Amino acid sequence: MGIKQVNEKLVAHIQDVVKATEVEDTQQLDTMYIAHTYGRQPVEFIQGKGSTLIDTAGKTYIDMSSGIGVTAFGFCDQQWQSSVIAQVKALNHVSNLYYTSPQAKLAEILCHKTGMKKVFFCNSGAEANECAIKVARKYSYDSYGPNRYRVVTLQNSFHGRTLGTLIATGQDVFHQYYGPFPEGFSYMPPNDIDAIPNYLGDESVCAIMMESIQGEGGVMPLDEAFVKAVVDYAHDHDILVIMDEVQTGNGRTGKLYGYEHYGIKPDIVSTAKGLAGGLPMGATLLGEKVEHVLQVGDHGSTFGGNPICAAGAISIMSRIDDTMLQSVCEKGQYIKDRLMGQEGILSISGKGLMIGIETVVPVKDVLAACLEKGVVLLSAKQKVRLLPALTISYEEIDIAIDALLESIHELQR
Ligand SMILES: *Cc1c(COP(=O)(O)O)cnc(C)c1O
Repeated sequence: MGIKQVNEKLVAHIQDVVKATEVEDTQQLDTMYIAHTYGRQPVEFIQGKGSTLIDTAGKTYIDMSSGIGVTAFGFCDQQWQSSVIAQVKALNHVSNLYYTSPQAKLAEILCHKTGMKKVFFCNSGAEANECAIKVARKYSYDSYGPNRYRVVTLQNSFHGRTLGTLIATGQDVFHQYYGPFPEGFSYMPPNDIDAIPNYLGDESVCAIMMESIQGEGGVMPLDEAFVKAVVDYAHDHDILVIMDEVQTGNGRTGKLYGYEHYGIKPDIVSTAKGLAGGLPMGATLLGEKVEHVLQVGDHGSTFGGNPICAAGAISIMSRIDDTMLQSVCEKGQYIKDRLMGQEGILSISGKGLMIGIETVVPVKDVLAACLEKGVVLLSAKQKVRLLPALTISYEEIDIAIDALLESIHELQR
């Protein structure tokens, strides 16, 4: 190669690099500077409206994920936006050493809608569960002393990523590397009524924590008879019932909280994800038995109940009424009806707009094929998981379901 050709090659190479840094800037920065804890898809979203997302290339997508059940009313909902912006302009943050109206009003809404008595605000699902565990242990400590601390959870559950909620999670894969973990957790098989006394009968048990539908565990609803038997046993033995409604809460399953499907009354409810419609907020709702357990200095959070997040949450929570919940049920049923009996579909589970779909082809391939077609899906274990915005339209559902079925059928060939 002569010097001229080498130079031309070099120039071409530099042009390629420049072009790459322009187009893939974000992906390169991310790879270079962000801890590699996520297996990201090669897509960068820049805008969203309702259930539509737009990427950097201008391609549009129907979103069936809501950012894992977070954007309850879709992207940039007008009313939510107005509430949040008004609060941004008025007051962004003060410490919890002072009163602010949005968190007080939000707590009132949550208590009125659920019959719970008090709320502790935090910033995530894991933190909401941490608070629930702490309240359960302190309640038990106050009444029975220090040896009644055990929290029973269900096998195949998911409760978060802090050390406490990792060990509360009933899946061995989450119990690697980070030990020693806090002590005092056991895992009961879900839907096995006969096993209940073996686990809850231990005198060190202070609480049972469960999801009404195991989300990360593969969209597995609990049997009503099991849930009722657990709650009856727990109430008879002064064991607290904690419902982890982080994913199933805030209208997701067609009830305000998933436990309402079972006609039970938990002592503690944790929630987060969809609560503030796309802002980080968690809440732990405390029932009659435990409403006075936490006193000044017993627990706290710098950001918990932040006025901007609370303003967003008020906008969402005040609009989840019976009409909206009814529409969530109907849309969920519509999706199930469209999928039921179709070739390549093995099973469908879930309630409302939290749906798990078992397909004959690998879920990873289905997600990739749908993304290519402009539909954003989630997975949970070996299932396709749908968590669309509660406000998604039937037209958008149809586009997504068409793409899903088409993808499955193409992959089968
Ligand atoms: C997502 C989730 C959590 C953890 O919430 P983070 O906000 O990620 O901490 C806990 N429990 C359940 C059931 C969840 O789905």
